[in-house]
Formats: sequence, C-alpha cells, structure tokens
Amino acid sequence: MKLSSAMSRLGTETAFEVLVRARALEARGKDVVHLEIGEPDFDTPRNIIEAGCEALQSGWTHYGPSAGLPDLREAIASYLNRSRGTSYSADNIIVTPGGKPIMFFVILALLEPGDEAIYPNPGFPIYESMINFTGAKAVPSPIRESNEFALDVDELEGLITPNTKLLIINSPGNPTSGVLTGADIERIAELAVKHDLIVLSDEIYSEIIYEGEHVSIATMPGMAERTIVLDGFSKTYAMTGWRLGYGAMPVDFAGQINKLMVNSVSCTSVAVQRAGIEALEGPQDDVRAMVAAFRARRDIMVEGLNAIPGVSCLNPKGAFYVFPNISGTGKSSREFADSLLEEHGVAALAGTSFGKHGEGYLRLSYANSEENLRKALDRIRCAAEQARG
Ligand code: PLP
Repeated sequence: MKLSSAMSRLGTETAFEVLVRARALEARGKDVVHLEIGEPDFDTPRNIIEAGCEALQSGWTHYGPSAGLPDLREAIASYLNRSRGTSYSADNIIVTPGGKPIMFFVILALLEPGDEAIYPNPGFPIYESMINFTGAKAVPSPIRESNEFALDVDELEGLITPNTKLLIINSPGNPTSGVLTGADIERIAELAVKHDLIVLSDEIYSEIIYEGEHVSIATMPGMAERTIVLDGFSKTYAMTGWRLGYGAMPVDFAGQINKLMVNSVSCTSVAVQRAGIEALEGPQDDVRAMVAAFRARRDIMVEGLNAIPGVSCLNPKGAFYVFPNISGTGKSSREFADSLLEEHGVAALAGTSFGKHGEGYLRLSYANSEENLRKALDRIRCAAEQARG
C-alpha cells in the first residue's frame, strides 16, 4: 500500500516494543523484572470498579455525548478548580479515551508546515512524533540532569522564533520525573504571553508528587486562554486499561477538539466515564496509599542505584520513574538497556527512547514490588560491573 508521506514521520513508544521482547524471553523461560512500562502495578480501587460494573448493569451501554457526560465534565472541572485553583466549568472540558488523544488532537488542531513547536527532550515520545506528523518543525528543549531535569527557562527563551506556535511542558515529567518549580512556571507563562504561544501542559502525574505542591501554568496571569491542560485517570487511579482522560481548555477551542472526537472515536465509553465520576468524588485513600508506596520504592531505587559503581541517580520529586545516569559504565544507553534485558533479565528503556538528549541514561519505572526492585538492582549491579570490566 502506498502510504501518505505523513505516516513515515510518525514515531512510536518503545515501551511497548520492549515489553514484547521481554515477553518473548519469558516465553523461552527467562526470568525478567519489568521496569519498562509506565503504569501503576496496583489494581484500580474497588469503589471505582464497582461503579463501572454498576454502570454497565444499569444500562450505561449506549453512545454518549462526544465531549463527555455532563456530570463527569462537571466533576472534572470542580476537581481541577479545587486542586489547581483554576476556574473551569464543564464547557472547558473534553473527555477522551485516555489522556493521550488530547495530545494527538491538540497537535493536529494547531500545527501545520511552517509552524514550530517546542517540546521536552527527553520527553514523552508522542509529542515529537505528532509534531513531525503534522509537518511542523519539532524543536527539542533539552531537559538536563544539571538542571535537576527541569526545563531550563533561559535556554527555552533562545528557542522561540516568530514561527513558534506551541510549547509543550510536562511536570512531573516522563521519563525524568523532573518537576518545574512555581518560579519556573511563572517565567514560562511570561514567555508564553510575550510571544503569543499556546501551551499544552501535560499534568498526568500531578497527583504523584513527593515534595511541594503541583502548580498548573493555567493559573498564571493571561494563561487560561492559551493553555490546554492534559490530565487523566490512568496514573492517579491506576486505570490505564480503562482509557479515560481529558483536556481542559478555552471553550471555543474545546468546540474544535470536540469536532475531532466526532470525527474519530465518537465518544469515550460511558460506563467508564461513570466510574470516573466515582474516582473523583469517592474516597481518595487508595491514591494516598499508592503515592506513599511509590515514595518508599523511589527511596529504594535511588539508594540502590547510587551504590552501583558507574551509575548515579537524582532523587525525583514526582512520578514513578528514575532516570539514572549510566555513562560511567562506558556503554551507550541502548547497549546497556539491551544487555540488561537479554543477559540480566531486567526490562528497562534506553534514555534515547525519549529523544537524543536521553543518551547516557536509562528510564526505570519503579511501579513494581519492593522485592522485584531489589532483584532488579542486583542485576543492574552485575550488568554495570560486567560493562566496566
Ligand atoms: N502523558 C505522559 C507524560 C505519559 O507518560 C502518559 C502515559 O504514559 C500519558 C500522557 C498518557 O496516558 P493515558 O493516555 O494512559 O491517559
């Protein structure tokens, strides 16, 4: 089949490929510790599962409004307003099957050849992939360990040109878990207003934060009308497989994104949306317990990694990833990740899976049991010792 040229510019998410390779090794009898996939290992809280089952039993089995159920849009707006201090109403919210379609739709709706979009690198691979898909220029904003894996605002300013239309930020970030400070967010907002940029703020890890409070750029002066907040239920409520996310944006723009919903998936599963209402309005104890467990695991990982010669690791303030520097092993990210998987039985992602500025790093998701994390640390130590000779 002769594909459109845009298809040749579309990238992918390596995590799923590594998972397939790891499963193939397991099928041949190899024991593999999975640190590649970015999803909580916890089950969805019981009350949410029950709300989903109850919705199906009571007839929530039909199409729903493409922008989302009014009750859920309302619940999302009030959640954002109380957690971030925004002033959204249901009209600002579009519900989607996962948070990812918000990135897909927003980039598709805004960019065309001649435009430039700045995105974090290393960063979630779909940003770069989708910018390239539209034919716009993808301009990486390097996320550096020397800046504690937060976007460097001075460097960002130098990347803005008259063609820059969109800026993507992600805090807490994937893959580095870097967190932007309130002061950084303020300065980024000033740049966005000054240069008339639209900001896609990916806040999917906003509830998984260990120090300080999450600050949304949407709350900064002049930003509500130029910000799209992406968030969802996958990470906070361990609901990756349900596919439920949303965007909060200016009302006119929400109408445009709704057109993309109508032209693609029609609507998000209504039973899943009913479960989403329970997630936001029901007890939050499971979320707190999950974050506490992640924090304990983070400590195990950071301490364990820093004790391995040739490896060093910053202490992340959010999300559930560590991004250790493995350059002291003498191996490239890809070589080290491949040997970890094939010889030592640890599925990890090369930092370069998240962009060229990820060279010298690995991304390890610690959404796994403490026992497995300790096993992985022993294996990483063996791999590092072997690499260093
Ligand atoms: N944004 C970031 C930074 C992510 O890491 C992910 C998932 O890994 C998503 C968005 C999308 O999540 P979902 O589509 O499951 O809501």
